[in-house]
Amino acid sequence: MDISKLIRKNILSLTPYSSARDEFDHVAEVYLDANENPFENGYNRYPDPYQKKVKERLSEIKGVATENILLGNGSDEVLDLIYRAFCEPGGDNVISHNPSYGMYPVLSEINNVPLRKVNLDEGFRLNAQAMIDVSDDQTKLFFICSPNNPSGNLLAKEEIKKILDLQKGLVIIDEAYIDFAATDSWLSELANYPNLIVCQTLSKAWGLAGLRVGMCFASEAIIKVLNAIKPPYNVNELSQQAALKALNEEEDFKSNLKIILDEKLKMEQALDELPCILKRFPSDANFILVRVEDAKGLYDFLMERQIIVRNRSKEYLCENCLRLTIGTPEENRRLLEGIKEYNRT
Ligand SMILES: *Cc1c(COP(=O)(O)O)cnc(C)c1O
Repeated sequence: MDISKLIRKNILSLTPYSSARDEFDHVAEVYLDANENPFENGYNRYPDPYQKKVKERLSEIKGVATENILLGNGSDEVLDLIYRAFCEPGGDNVISHNPSYGMYPVLSEINNVPLRKVNLDEGFRLNAQAMIDVSDDQTKLFFICSPNNPSGNLLAKEEIKKILDLQKGLVIIDEAYIDFAATDSWLSELANYPNLIVCQTLSKAWGLAGLRVGMCFASEAIIKVLNAIKPPYNVNELSQQAALKALNEEEDFKSNLKIILDEKLKMEQALDELPCILKRFPSDANFILVRVEDAKGLYDFLMERQIIVRNRSKEYLCENCLRLTIGTPEENRRLLEGIKEYNRT
């Protein structure tokens, strides 16, 4: 599959901005090339535009070569870069499933690239053929969110493979929640599919939403074009340092992850005992989607008690559904208390 055929023509012929650090990235004693302030304060120098140290550590953790990694100012930036590299505004289109992550339609609007939504079935399962059926020659991207937000479930590998095998466009698998799932990442399939892009983030299981560090894993051809259009210094120095520190403290990551997964199990059991929870959907993520009689009523009741959950009622298949993020044991206890109190009213 020739990726360059999918790239927008103006991007293919682009001469990328060449920063001072692009032209000289070796070690020297005197740096007078970037109009920086010479007085050291920890942050007076521009950050590494390619975040080499962070990528080297990620490469060890993920088993992916640094050439196959791109970092963004959150995975939201990565998703936007993918739109801008491959989709001609006003001509091309992209496909996703419904319900799914709310940023895909927003990015579609911003980039003027129509998003064709294909409904999941009532068990939130993916129908690959239905996605293929709505595609045409102008389809550039397929967005698959697995585990899916807001439903929480993994989408079937065999279905996703049908879309990859079609080789019609790029397949972006958004794995923001993959660390919570008891399954392998799609990263192990990168070598088999030149049209596969896997997006992950430090915002969820790594607990670093405030840093804004998103990860993109793909073939060198794809990473190269995304590098060419990204803002040169898109991940700032503070974020790079803090990301590297966290990635070097993998034990903390693992112990926090275990607490969240244990808590999720407890919450699932406790929710199943509550009469006002009409349905609890299975979750491979760090949140649980539940259906209640009156989502707005429970939402408002909890809010008065200073507990905020997410009302997803307006989403397809999510009528009267609330999305509950797993918090600390104390926060989860308060949520359960709140719901029990609501039960009694
Ligand atoms: C939270 C989330 C992200 C993370 O976005 P960042 O910009 O990296 O914080 C990406 N995709 C999905 C589906 C999410 O729910």
